[in-house]
Amino acid sequence: MNNQEFKFGTRAIHAGQEPDPTTGAVMTPIYQTSTYWQESPGKHKGYAYARGKNPTRTALENCLASLENAKFGLCFSSGMGATDAVVKMLKPGDEVITGNDLYGGTYRMFTKVFANYGIKFHFIDLSKAENILAYINQNTKLLWVETPTNPTMQIVDIAACATIAKAHHITFAVDNTFASPYLQNPLDLGADIVMHSVTKYLGGHSDVVMGALLTSDDSLYERLAFIHNSCGATPGPMDSFLVLRGLKTLHLRMKAHCENGREVAHFLKNHPAIEKVYWPGFTDHPNHEVAKKQMRDFGGMISIVLKNADLHKTFEIASAFKVFTLAESLGGVESLINHPATMTHASIPKEEREKAGVVDNLLRLSVGVEDVEDILQDLKQVLG
Ligand SMILES: *Cc1c(COP(=O)(O)O)cnc(C)c1O
Repeated sequence: MNNQEFKFGTRAIHAGQEPDPTTGAVMTPIYQTSTYWQESPGKHKGYAYARGKNPTRTALENCLASLENAKFGLCFSSGMGATDAVVKMLKPGDEVITGNDLYGGTYRMFTKVFANYGIKFHFIDLSKAENILAYINQNTKLLWVETPTNPTMQIVDIAACATIAKAHHITFAVDNTFASPYLQNPLDLGADIVMHSVTKYLGGHSDVVMGALLTSDDSLYERLAFIHNSCGATPGPMDSFLVLRGLKTLHLRMKAHCENGREVAHFLKNHPAIEKVYWPGFTDHPNHEVAKKQMRDFGGMISIVLKNADLHKTFEIASAFKVFTLAESLGGVESLINHPATMTHASIPKEEREKAGVVDNLLRLSVGVEDVEDILQDLKQVLG
Protein backbone atom coordinates (compact mmCIF):
# COMPACT_ATOMS: atom_id res chain seq x y z
CA MET A 1 0.00 0.00 0.00
CA ASN A 2 1.30 3.43 -0.87
CA ASN A 3 -1.82 5.46 -0.89
CA GLN A 4 -1.78 8.96 0.61
CA GLU A 5 -5.59 8.90 0.90
CA PHE A 6 -5.22 6.74 4.05
CA LYS A 7 -4.65 8.44 7.39
CA PHE A 8 -1.34 8.56 9.24
CA GLY A 9 -1.74 5.54 11.55
CA THR A 10 -2.91 3.32 8.71
CA ARG A 11 0.09 4.34 6.61
CA ALA A 12 2.48 3.81 9.56
CA ILE A 13 1.30 0.18 9.63
CA HIS A 14 0.90 -0.57 5.92
CA ALA A 15 2.66 1.90 3.59
CA GLY A 16 5.31 0.36 1.33
CA GLN A 17 4.36 -3.14 2.40
CA GLU A 18 2.52 -5.92 0.56
CA PRO A 19 2.34 -9.65 1.37
CA ASP A 20 5.58 -11.24 0.12
CA PRO A 21 5.01 -12.39 -3.50
CA THR A 22 6.90 -15.69 -3.11
CA THR A 23 5.29 -17.03 0.10
CA GLY A 24 2.46 -14.70 1.07
CA ALA A 25 4.27 -13.76 4.32
CA VAL A 26 2.29 -10.84 5.74
CA MET A 27 5.33 -9.25 7.39
CA THR A 28 8.12 -8.02 5.11
CA PRO A 29 10.88 -10.68 5.13
CA ILE A 30 14.45 -9.85 6.18
CA TYR A 31 16.19 -10.29 2.83
CA GLN A 32 19.57 -11.17 4.34
CA THR A 33 21.53 -11.19 1.08
CA SER A 34 24.33 -9.03 -0.32
CA THR A 35 23.73 -9.97 -3.95
CA TYR A 36 21.02 -11.19 -6.35
CA TRP A 37 20.84 -13.74 -9.15
CA GLN A 38 20.93 -12.45 -12.72
CA GLU A 39 19.47 -14.58 -15.48
CA SER A 40 21.95 -13.07 -17.94
CA PRO A 41 24.27 -10.10 -17.25
CA GLY A 42 22.12 -7.09 -16.35
CA LYS A 43 18.85 -9.08 -16.49
CA HIS A 44 17.58 -9.15 -12.91
CA LYS A 45 14.42 -8.41 -10.93
CA GLY A 46 15.42 -4.84 -10.05
CA TYR A 47 17.96 -5.83 -7.40
CA ALA A 48 21.66 -6.34 -8.29
CA TYR A 49 23.74 -5.65 -5.16
CA ALA A 50 22.46 -4.82 -1.67
CA ARG A 51 24.39 -1.56 -1.13
CA GLY A 52 22.26 -0.17 -3.93
CA LYS A 53 18.96 -1.82 -3.03
CA ASN A 54 17.46 -4.41 -0.68
CA PRO A 55 13.74 -5.27 -0.61
CA THR A 56 13.42 -4.94 3.19
CA ARG A 57 14.99 -1.50 2.95
CA THR A 58 12.84 -0.54 -0.07
CA ALA A 59 9.68 -1.29 1.96
CA LEU A 60 10.96 0.91 4.79
CA GLU A 61 12.01 3.74 2.46
CA ASN A 62 8.55 3.76 0.89
CA CYS A 63 6.84 3.70 4.30
CA LEU A 64 8.91 6.65 5.57
CA ALA A 65 8.31 8.57 2.33
CA SER A 66 4.58 8.06 2.80
CA LEU A 67 4.70 9.30 6.42
CA GLU A 68 6.49 12.51 5.35
CA ASN A 69 4.22 13.00 2.30
CA ALA A 70 7.31 12.59 0.10
CA LYS A 71 7.80 10.95 -3.28
CA PHE A 72 11.15 9.38 -2.38
CA GLY A 73 12.92 7.93 0.65
CA LEU A 74 16.51 6.85 1.28
CA CYS A 75 17.64 5.07 4.43
CA PHE A 76 21.18 5.44 5.81
CA SER A 77 23.21 3.52 8.37
CA SER A 78 22.86 6.46 10.80
CA GLY A 79 21.37 9.93 11.04
CA MET A 80 24.87 11.36 10.56
CA GLY A 81 25.24 9.27 7.40
CA ALA A 82 22.07 10.91 6.06
CA THR A 83 23.27 14.45 6.91
CA ASP A 84 26.68 13.65 5.39
CA ALA A 85 25.02 12.79 2.06
CA VAL A 86 23.21 16.16 1.95
CA VAL A 87 26.41 18.14 2.54
CA LYS A 88 28.23 16.04 -0.07
CA MET A 89 26.02 17.67 -2.74
CA LEU A 90 28.09 20.85 -2.12
CA LYS A 91 31.52 21.80 -3.40
CA PRO A 92 34.42 23.92 -2.06
CA GLY A 93 33.45 27.58 -1.77
CA ASP A 94 29.79 26.83 -1.12
CA GLU A 95 28.19 28.24 2.03
CA VAL A 96 25.65 26.83 4.47
CA ILE A 97 23.40 28.75 6.86
CA THR A 98 22.29 26.84 9.93
CA GLY A 99 21.14 27.28 13.52
CA ASN A 100 23.32 27.98 16.56
CA ASP A 101 21.92 25.22 18.75
CA LEU A 102 22.26 22.19 16.52
CA TYR A 103 22.58 18.56 17.51
CA GLY A 104 26.21 18.23 18.76
CA GLY A 105 27.17 15.60 16.18
CA THR A 106 25.90 17.76 13.31
CA TYR A 107 27.91 20.74 14.60
CA ARG A 108 30.99 18.50 14.90
CA MET A 109 30.63 17.14 11.35
CA PHE A 110 30.12 20.64 9.87
CA THR A 111 33.06 22.23 11.74
CA LYS A 112 35.56 19.35 12.01
CA VAL A 113 34.96 17.46 8.76
CA PHE A 114 33.35 19.59 6.06
CA ALA A 115 35.00 22.92 6.98
CA ASN A 116 38.27 21.19 5.91
CA TYR A 117 36.80 20.66 2.46
CA GLY A 118 36.33 24.39 1.91
CA ILE A 119 32.64 24.59 2.80
CA LYS A 120 31.73 27.57 4.97
CA PHE A 121 29.11 27.33 7.74
CA HIS A 122 27.23 30.20 9.40
CA PHE A 123 25.74 29.23 12.78
CA ILE A 124 23.05 31.82 13.49
CA ASP A 125 20.01 32.53 15.66
CA LEU A 126 17.08 31.23 13.61
CA SER A 127 14.34 32.19 16.08
CA LYS A 128 13.44 34.88 13.51
CA ALA A 129 13.64 33.59 9.92
CA GLU A 130 14.57 37.04 8.56
CA ASN A 131 17.93 36.74 10.41
CA ILE A 132 18.92 34.47 7.49
CA LEU A 133 18.84 37.35 4.99
CA ALA A 134 22.02 39.01 6.30
CA TYR A 135 24.06 35.85 5.61
CA ILE A 136 22.91 35.09 2.07
CA ASN A 137 25.30 35.66 -0.83
CA GLN A 138 25.79 34.04 -4.25
CA ASN A 139 27.67 31.10 -2.64
CA THR A 140 24.83 30.17 -0.27
CA LYS A 141 23.65 26.71 -1.31
CA LEU A 142 22.08 25.08 1.73
CA LEU A 143 19.86 26.12 4.65
CA TRP A 144 19.95 23.44 7.38
CA VAL A 145 17.33 23.77 10.12
CA GLU A 146 16.48 21.77 13.22
CA THR A 147 13.12 22.39 14.96
CA PRO A 148 12.44 21.90 17.81
CA THR A 149 16.14 22.36 18.55
CA ASN A 150 18.22 20.12 20.72
CA PRO A 151 18.29 20.59 23.67
CA THR A 152 16.67 24.00 24.24
CA MET A 153 13.46 23.35 22.23
CA GLN A 154 13.65 26.56 20.22
CA ILE A 155 11.15 26.66 17.36
CA VAL A 156 12.12 27.74 13.84
CA ASP A 157 9.38 28.89 11.45
CA ILE A 158 9.68 26.33 8.62
CA ALA A 159 7.29 28.06 6.19
CA ALA A 160 9.04 31.43 6.64
CA CYS A 161 12.46 29.80 6.05
CA ALA A 162 11.10 28.05 2.93
CA THR A 163 9.93 31.35 1.45
CA ILE A 164 13.40 32.89 1.89
CA ALA A 165 15.20 29.76 0.62
CA LYS A 166 13.01 29.60 -2.50
CA ALA A 167 13.46 33.27 -3.34
CA HIS A 168 17.27 32.80 -3.24
CA HIS A 169 17.43 29.31 -4.86
CA ILE A 170 18.87 27.73 -1.72
CA THR A 171 18.22 24.05 -0.95
CA PHE A 172 16.32 23.87 2.34
CA ALA A 173 16.71 20.80 4.57
CA VAL A 174 14.98 20.19 7.91
CA ASP A 175 16.18 17.76 10.59
CA ASN A 176 12.75 16.53 11.75
CA THR A 177 14.07 14.06 14.35
CA PHE A 178 12.58 15.72 17.44
CA ALA A 179 9.08 16.20 16.04
CA SER A 180 8.76 13.01 13.96
CA PRO A 181 6.33 13.00 11.00
CA TYR A 182 3.47 12.45 13.46
CA LEU A 183 3.85 16.04 14.70
CA GLN A 184 5.24 17.94 11.73
CA ASN A 185 5.74 17.50 7.96
CA PRO A 186 8.36 20.01 6.71
CA LEU A 187 7.90 19.16 2.99
CA ASP A 188 4.28 20.33 3.25
CA LEU A 189 5.60 23.63 4.63
CA GLY A 190 7.99 24.15 1.70
CA ALA A 191 11.20 22.32 2.70
CA ASP A 192 13.09 20.44 -0.05
CA ILE A 193 14.57 17.65 2.09
CA VAL A 194 13.60 16.09 5.42
CA MET A 195 16.27 14.33 7.45
CA HIS A 196 15.61 11.91 10.33
CA SER A 197 17.72 10.19 12.89
CA VAL A 198 15.54 7.07 12.59
CA THR A 199 17.38 5.90 15.73
CA LYS A 200 15.00 8.05 17.79
CA TYR A 201 11.16 8.16 17.55
CA LEU A 202 10.84 6.31 14.23
CA GLY A 203 12.69 3.19 15.44
CA GLY A 204 11.23 3.97 18.85
CA HIS A 205 12.75 1.13 20.87
CA SER A 206 16.42 2.16 21.26
CA ASP A 207 17.61 -0.94 19.40
CA VAL A 208 18.64 0.47 16.00
CA VAL A 209 20.91 3.25 14.69
CA MET A 210 19.64 4.55 11.33
CA GLY A 211 19.04 7.72 9.31
CA ALA A 212 16.74 8.75 6.45
CA LEU A 213 16.26 11.45 3.83
CA LEU A 214 12.88 12.18 2.25
CA THR A 215 12.21 14.45 -0.71
CA SER A 216 9.68 15.00 -3.48
CA ASP A 217 12.18 16.68 -5.83
CA ASP A 218 13.27 14.35 -8.68
CA SER A 219 16.62 16.00 -9.25
CA LEU A 220 17.54 16.15 -5.53
CA TYR A 221 16.53 12.50 -5.18
CA GLU A 222 18.75 11.52 -8.09
CA ARG A 223 21.76 13.33 -6.66
CA LEU A 224 21.19 11.95 -3.15
CA ALA A 225 20.59 8.40 -4.38
CA PHE A 226 23.86 8.60 -6.35
CA ILE A 227 25.77 9.66 -3.19
CA HIS A 228 23.90 7.03 -1.14
CA ASN A 229 25.08 4.21 -3.41
CA SER A 230 28.51 5.70 -4.21
CA CYS A 231 29.54 6.50 -0.63
CA GLY A 232 27.73 3.52 0.85
CA ALA A 233 26.33 4.52 4.26
CA THR A 234 23.41 2.13 3.78
CA PRO A 235 21.67 0.09 6.51
CA GLY A 236 21.23 -3.68 6.59
CA PRO A 237 17.97 -5.63 6.21
CA MET A 238 17.71 -6.67 9.87
CA ASP A 239 17.76 -3.04 11.02
CA SER A 240 15.28 -2.13 8.27
CA PHE A 241 12.94 -4.84 9.55
CA LEU A 242 13.21 -3.58 13.14
CA VAL A 243 12.26 -0.07 12.06
CA LEU A 244 9.32 -1.31 9.94
CA ARG A 245 8.13 -3.05 13.10
CA GLY A 246 8.73 0.02 15.26
CA LEU A 247 6.78 2.24 12.85
CA LYS A 248 3.62 0.18 13.27
CA THR A 249 3.08 1.86 16.66
CA LEU A 250 4.53 5.31 15.83
CA HIS A 251 1.15 7.07 16.07
CA LEU A 252 0.27 5.31 19.34
CA ARG A 253 3.65 5.96 20.89
CA MET A 254 3.75 9.62 19.82
CA LYS A 255 0.30 10.24 21.27
CA ALA A 256 1.46 8.78 24.60
CA HIS A 257 4.79 10.71 24.49
CA CYS A 258 2.82 13.94 23.98
CA GLU A 259 0.38 13.21 26.82
CA ASN A 260 3.12 12.24 29.28
CA GLY A 261 5.31 15.14 28.08
CA ARG A 262 2.51 17.62 28.77
CA GLU A 263 2.00 16.32 32.34
CA VAL A 264 5.73 16.32 33.10
CA ALA A 265 6.24 19.83 31.64
CA HIS A 266 3.44 21.26 33.80
CA PHE A 267 4.66 19.41 36.90
CA LEU A 268 8.16 20.85 36.46
CA LYS A 269 7.05 24.37 35.47
CA ASN A 270 6.41 25.64 38.99
CA HIS A 271 8.65 23.22 40.87
CA PRO A 272 10.85 25.01 43.46
CA ALA A 273 14.00 23.03 42.45
CA ILE A 274 13.69 24.09 38.81
CA GLU A 275 14.78 27.44 37.41
CA LYS A 276 13.55 27.01 33.82
CA VAL A 277 11.63 24.49 31.72
CA TYR A 278 12.03 24.35 27.94
CA TRP A 279 8.95 22.92 26.20
CA PRO A 280 7.23 24.46 23.15
CA GLY A 281 3.74 23.80 24.53
CA PHE A 282 3.94 26.61 27.10
CA THR A 283 2.10 29.75 26.02
CA ASP A 284 5.10 31.81 27.23
CA HIS A 285 7.54 29.88 25.01
CA PRO A 286 9.00 32.60 22.72
CA ASN A 287 7.82 30.85 19.54
CA HIS A 288 4.72 29.09 20.90
CA GLU A 289 2.52 30.53 18.16
CA VAL A 290 4.84 29.17 15.45
CA ALA A 291 4.91 25.79 17.19
CA LYS A 292 1.09 25.76 17.27
CA LYS A 293 0.96 26.62 13.58
CA GLN A 294 3.42 24.00 12.30
CA MET A 295 3.14 21.14 14.85
CA ARG A 296 0.11 18.99 15.74
CA ASP A 297 1.21 18.65 19.38
CA PHE A 298 4.35 19.44 21.39
CA GLY A 299 6.11 16.11 21.92
CA GLY A 300 7.85 14.44 24.83
CA MET A 301 11.20 16.27 24.81
CA ILE A 302 11.71 18.66 27.74
CA SER A 303 14.83 20.38 29.07
CA ILE A 304 15.21 21.79 32.57
CA VAL A 305 17.67 24.10 34.27
CA LEU A 306 18.19 23.15 37.91
CA LYS A 307 18.08 25.94 40.50
CA ASN A 308 21.35 26.57 42.40
CA ALA A 309 23.02 23.39 41.21
CA ASP A 310 26.74 23.16 40.43
CA LEU A 311 28.13 20.38 38.22
CA HIS A 312 28.50 18.00 41.17
CA LYS A 313 24.91 18.51 42.33
CA THR A 314 23.65 18.23 38.72
CA PHE A 315 25.45 14.88 38.30
CA GLU A 316 24.01 13.68 41.63
CA ILE A 317 20.47 14.50 40.47
CA ALA A 318 20.97 13.02 36.98
CA SER A 319 22.10 9.72 38.53
CA ALA A 320 19.32 9.38 41.14
CA PHE A 321 16.33 8.40 38.96
CA LYS A 322 14.69 4.96 38.90
CA VAL A 323 12.37 5.25 35.89
CA PHE A 324 14.54 7.64 33.83
CA THR A 325 17.75 5.98 32.62
CA LEU A 326 20.83 8.20 32.37
CA ALA A 327 21.86 7.74 28.74
CA GLU A 328 22.42 9.49 25.42
CA SER A 329 19.72 9.31 22.74
CA LEU A 330 15.96 9.89 22.91
CA GLY A 331 12.65 8.88 21.44
CA GLY A 332 12.47 5.32 22.75
CA VAL A 333 9.52 3.92 24.71
CA GLU A 334 11.61 4.21 27.90
CA SER A 335 12.26 7.52 29.65
CA LEU A 336 15.83 8.79 29.35
CA ILE A 337 17.70 11.62 31.06
CA ASN A 338 20.79 13.23 29.58
CA HIS A 339 23.35 15.84 30.64
CA PRO A 340 23.98 17.65 27.32
CA ALA A 341 27.06 19.64 28.45
CA THR A 342 29.08 16.48 29.10
CA MET A 343 27.19 13.94 26.97
CA THR A 344 25.37 14.76 23.68
CA HIS A 345 26.81 18.29 23.32
CA ALA A 346 30.33 17.78 24.74
CA SER A 347 31.85 18.29 21.28
CA ILE A 348 30.64 21.94 21.21
CA PRO A 349 33.10 24.38 22.85
CA LYS A 350 31.90 25.57 26.29
CA GLU A 351 31.57 29.20 25.19
CA GLU A 352 29.49 28.31 22.09
CA ARG A 353 27.44 25.86 24.13
CA GLU A 354 26.58 28.38 26.85
CA LYS A 355 25.63 31.00 24.27
CA ALA A 356 22.98 28.54 23.09
CA GLY A 357 21.77 27.97 26.67
CA VAL A 358 23.45 24.58 27.17
CA VAL A 359 24.65 25.39 30.68
CA ASP A 360 26.20 22.91 33.14
CA ASN A 361 22.97 22.64 35.19
CA LEU A 362 20.75 21.81 32.19
CA LEU A 363 19.26 18.32 31.89
CA ARG A 364 17.30 16.95 28.94
CA LEU A 365 14.41 14.54 29.43
CA SER A 366 13.04 12.18 26.82
CA VAL A 367 9.70 11.38 28.42
CA GLY A 368 8.80 7.76 27.65
CA VAL A 369 5.47 5.99 27.50
CA GLU A 370 5.56 4.34 30.93
CA ASP A 371 2.60 5.03 33.28
CA VAL A 372 2.74 8.74 33.93
CA GLU A 373 2.13 8.28 37.68
CA ASP A 374 5.44 6.39 37.91
CA ILE A 375 7.26 9.02 35.86
CA LEU A 376 5.94 11.84 38.09
CA GLN A 377 6.72 9.86 41.25
CA ASP A 378 10.29 9.38 40.02
CA LEU A 379 10.67 13.14 39.49
CA LYS A 380 9.24 13.81 42.98
CA GLN A 381 11.51 11.23 44.56
CA VAL A 382 14.58 13.02 43.15
CA LEU A 383 13.57 16.70 43.10
CA GLY A 384 11.41 16.71 46.22
C1 LIG B 1 20.58 11.68 17.15
C2 LIG B 1 20.41 12.86 16.29
C3 LIG B 1 21.13 12.97 15.07
C4 LIG B 1 22.16 11.96 14.64
O1 LIG B 1 21.60 10.73 14.34
P1 LIG B 1 22.34 9.31 14.55
O2 LIG B 1 21.30 8.33 14.18
O3 LIG B 1 22.76 9.26 16.00
O4 LIG B 1 23.53 9.32 13.65
C5 LIG B 1 20.87 14.09 14.28
N1 LIG B 1 19.99 15.04 14.65
C6 LIG B 1 19.30 14.96 15.80
C7 LIG B 1 18.32 16.04 16.15
C8 LIG B 1 19.48 13.87 16.66
O5 LIG B 1 18.80 13.80 17.81
